[in-house]
Amino acid sequence: MRRIPDHVLPDEVLAQLLAWQHEIDALPDFAARVDAAKTRFSSRSGRSNKTFRQVRAALKEMCAGARRCMYCEDSVADEVEHIKPKNFYPEAVFTWENYLYACGPCNGGKSDQYAVIDAATGAIMPLMRATGAPPLPPQAGEPVFLNPRTEAVEQLFFLDLLDTFFLLPDPGAPLALQQRTQYTIDVLKLNRESLPEARQEAYDSYRDRLEAYIRRRDLGDSAAKLQKRIDSLKKAAHPTVWHEMKRLHAQVPELNALFQEAPEALGW
Ligand SMILES: [Zn+2]
Repeated sequence: MRRIPDHVLPDEVLAQLLAWQHEIDALPDFAARVDAAKTRFSSRSGRSNKTFRQVRAALKEMCAGARRCMYCEDSVADEVEHIKPKNFYPEAVFTWENYLYACGPCNGGKSDQYAVIDAATGAIMPLMRATGAPPLPPQAGEPVFLNPRTEAVEQLFFLDLLDTFFLLPDPGAPLALQQRTQYTIDVLKLNRESLPEARQEAYDSYRDRLEAYIRRRDLGDSAAKLQKRIDSLKKAAHPTVWHEMKRLHAQVPELNALFQEAPEALGW
C-alpha cells in the first residue's frame, strides 16, 4: 500500500458532495444521520449518477496499473470505499478525502471494521455495534487503520522479497505505528490467498522491465524511447513491490547488480 496521489475534483462535483454532506449533517440525531448516510450513498453512488461518475473517474486516475485496488494493488477497483465507515462516521459519507477505490474482497472484508486509540491508555479500541442496537456516536480517538489518502503509508510496510512476499509492519518503525500497520494488514487480509503470489509475479515483471531498460539503454535507444519505458513501469500494478525493490535492493543480489548498472532507476 502506498500514499495515494491526490487529485483535484472539478468545483461542481465538490460543491455537490458538500451539499449532500450538509443535508446529512443537518439531521437532528446520530441514528438518523447514519440511516440517511447509508441510504443516500447507496442511491447516489452508482454509475448512473453524474457526480459519482466524475468521482469514479478521478479515483481511477489515482489507481496504479489498470485501475488496481488502492489497498491490495492487485484486483480491479470498482467500489467507492469509505476509509472511515459511514456506519460510524456519517459526517464523512460525502467527503472526498474519505474515498478510495477498492476491490470487492478488500472493501467487503473491511466492511465496518475500524478502531480508535484510547487516549488515556493507548489501547486499540475496536468500534462495535451489536446487531439491532441503536447507532450511537463512536468512541473518540485517533484512528488505528492507516489512511493512504493522508499518510505516507509506504514507509510503514516491509515486503519479504526473499521468501514469502508477505506484507508486514516495518520492524524499524515505532511500535505504535507497527501496531497500526498490523491492524490494517489484518482488517484487509493483505496476505490473503493469492496476494503473495501476485506480488512475486509483479517482482519478476519489474525486474524484467529493468533488465530490458538496461539492455535498450546500452544499445543506444533514444531518451524518448527510454522515458516511455520508465513511465510505463511507474504506472504498473503493485507499486509497493517496486518501492520495496528499490528500498531493499542491497539485500537481494540480483537487484543489487541491476541497480548498480542503472542507479538512475532508484529515482523512479
Ligand atoms: Zn483490494
